Amino acid sequence: MEKIMTMGEILVEIMATERGQSLRAPGRLLGPYASGAPAIFIDQVARLGHPAAIIACVGDDDFGWLNIERLQRDGVDTGSISVLPDAVTGSAFVTYRRNGERDFIFNITNSACAQLQPAHVNAAALRDCAHFHVMGSSLFSFRLIDAMKKAIDIVKGQGGTVSFDPNIRKEMLRIAEMREALTYILEFTDILLPSEHELSLLASAPDEAGAVRELFGKGVKEIVVKHGAQGCCYFAPGVRFALDAIPVEELDPTGAGDCFGATFVTCRRLGKTPDESLRYANASGALAVGAKGPMEGTSGFKQLDALLALS
Ligand code: ATP
Ligand code: MG
Repeated sequence: MEKIMTMGEILVEIMATERGQSLRAPGRLLGPYASGAPAIFIDQVARLGHPAAIIACVGDDDFGWLNIERLQRDGVDTGSISVLPDAVTGSAFVTYRRNGERDFIFNITNSACAQLQPAHVNAAALRDCAHFHVMGSSLFSFRLIDAMKKAIDIVKGQGGTVSFDPNIRKEMLRIAEMREALTYILEFTDILLPSEHELSLLASAPDEAGAVRELFGKGVKEIVVKHGAQGCCYFAPGVRFALDAIPVEELDPTGAGDCFGATFVTCRRLGKTPDESLRYANASGALAVGAKGPMEGTSGFKQLDALLALS
């Protein structure tokens, strides 16, 4: 079977234990956990039994090896992860507001993952790649954007498809080149996986229907809008259907969107219908929020089927 691949940041995440906890004062923290949106995505693809690989850079430190060992354990091909001797692995500290919103302190731009560049993208590693996934959160430097463009060119050149989750963090929009890169990636996107608020950043139409039409006009073939605890909605030209979220206790929302996207894309690659793929993705997001830690809620088809049988 041909591979699904992605590229971008691998981090550890260290999280506050209480809602309302601030990082301006000492407090109890939990972690390090394996993390980074592309890493969570590819872990979920592998958990579904699909061949999966990630192009990334980590430092030669415990944070880097924690991630590599974890991804390997779940079946991800880590052969395209470079371990850089002179860099440290990225990190993110997360706090949760009382209303459920999250704030992040990222150490990404000075970490190993920021050293990712076109030289790390080689055609040989991408030879078996039938589908490439782009996380908008990975587009934080010119070098990375160039690397992403190179990977997309190779995969599209060999007849592959591309999915794109804008995954915009307000902390990152300050980086000017990121905004431009979002527009560029959109041109090559087959499956778009935005959150509700991201639709208005990608299209000029003020309403959902208009925004979706505009994006189809740019060549996007399928759009799945993630609505958190309100569920999700699928769009293809002339087609729209929504699903309510599966009621679960939300322990940690981080990673839900990444697991959701990975499951949708994998199911579509496996030839499942949009309807069935959305059901599996919805279940995958629900299982992700039920576990503390960004990558701790990834799941296989057995767990997804068990949850869907109950709901
Ligand atoms: P992020 O802000 O982390 O980027 P996202 O917008 O990419 O998140 P979400 O919308 O938070 O992703 O979650 C993706 C999907 O996971 C939702 O569309 C839904 O199917 C499922 N999901 C999310 N939160 C919950 C919840 N509290 N209960 C059940 N399912 C959920
Ligand atoms: Mg997201």
